[in-house]
Amino acid sequence: MENKAYRGHVLALPFPIQGHINPLLQFSKHLVSKGLKATLATTRFIHNTMQPQSSSSLQFDTISDGYDEGGFAQAESIHASLNRMETIGSKTLADLIIKNKNTANPIDCIIYDPFLPWALEVAKKFGIFGAAFFTQTCTVNFIYHHVHHGLLKLPITSTPISIPGLPVLELDDMPSFISVPGSYPAYFEMVLNQFSSTDKADAVLVNTFYELEPEAVDSMSKVCRLLPIGPTIPSFYLDKRLENDSDYGLNLFVSDSSVCNNWLNTKPEGSVIYASFGSMASLSNKQMEELAFALKGSKFHFLWVVKAFEEAKLLEKFVEEIGNKGLVVQWCSQLEVLSNKAIGCFLTHCGWNSTLEALSLGVPMVGVPQWTDQTMNAKYIQDVWKVGVRAKVCENGIVERKEIEFCIKEVMEGERGKHFLENAKKWRDLAIKAGSKGGSSDKNIDEFVSRFINS
Ligand code: UDP
Repeated sequence: MENKAYRGHVLALPFPIQGHINPLLQFSKHLVSKGLKATLATTRFIHNTMQPQSSSSLQFDTISDGYDEGGFAQAESIHASLNRMETIGSKTLADLIIKNKNTANPIDCIIYDPFLPWALEVAKKFGIFGAAFFTQTCTVNFIYHHVHHGLLKLPITSTPISIPGLPVLELDDMPSFISVPGSYPAYFEMVLNQFSSTDKADAVLVNTFYELEPEAVDSMSKVCRLLPIGPTIPSFYLDKRLENDSDYGLNLFVSDSSVCNNWLNTKPEGSVIYASFGSMASLSNKQMEELAFALKGSKFHFLWVVKAFEEAKLLEKFVEEIGNKGLVVQWCSQLEVLSNKAIGCFLTHCGWNSTLEALSLGVPMVGVPQWTDQTMNAKYIQDVWKVGVRAKVCENGIVERKEIEFCIKEVMEGERGKHFLENAKKWRDLAIKAGSKGGSSDKNIDEFVSRFINS
């Protein structure tokens, strides 16, 4: 029987994809460092595939999304999978709470991904403190908040778009669900529904830090009392405060770090382009071809993550032809790669975790956003944080090789490149400061903990 006295027991419930598991897992580690016990609940499918290792204060447990055998890739539609996750997830989340009820540390706080708003209803049924944890920028959340409450009418018929606290926006800066009406209606409904019950949540946490988007945080704080608590990145890469914390700890894909490290360690400082499009994006054959020619044609080395499900799209003999100029892997430890001195720029799809990791590690970026919030992040990379450029898309929806080559040069060399690097280093310092003892995010984490302990 457990007898350790914790200040409380938090259950973290992420939406079951890599980019949502990483921040909540990392935030759970922070809470453990503040004397709490934390349990991260993934789906049975993810748990069985990854078999994460629990420690006494950070444990892994499961709920079911209804796709225990093959994951939600098996679902007949996005809509069906979200409905099934709600029905079966609510029931199995309740079972998990009940299972912990008569232990030394019953669950007394649920931190849920607002992509799963039903989790708050379950928490409230059991009288448990419920906190929403937003995994996208405050800016993006504020835009969805405006749409959800009818403050921004769709479709947008006149531009530029003005929203308090945000820069003036053009249509293609907006999240793709807004700029491309009718695209992915089930996901669009999901991101808007994040706000269906946030007013009933006991706390609202956002994986950003105040200094990154102060105006957006201030504006959104007027309608919802939020706490920016990011960046949620393993401590080894920031202030090194948490012991043995150099990896998120739950990877949906397998990689061998030594392959990338050994290769990168032979390359001069700032000489390598790291290209990766995150865990989900699937590029068209044409886009893969343009990227391949651009990387091969540039004068820099490159490390390119081509996921196993995309390998068939690689040009024939590409890997043979590039020789030692480039390395193609199916997955890597992105934090290890980004922190290697050899990396000069990150050619990224601008997923929020990737963007925040690059900002926190001081790496300039070339943004090639694909969908959802990535377009907005690319806008900020170029125009607000000024740490890189956003590649221009042709009318056929493709970013052509010439444009990619041009953007790489802009970031890797010349006066502009130097400027991006200086800014990137500035953001790195601010990211470290925000999460360090007494920094803006650290204070917010303390406030969150005391709010729920005293609730
Ligand atoms: N990632 C990684 N290795 C890779 C590619 C990505 O570890 O080869 C991690 C990356 O560090 C980030 C996450 O996967 O934490 C991707 O999240 P992001 O929000 O950038 O994109 P998504 O996968 O959600 O599109």
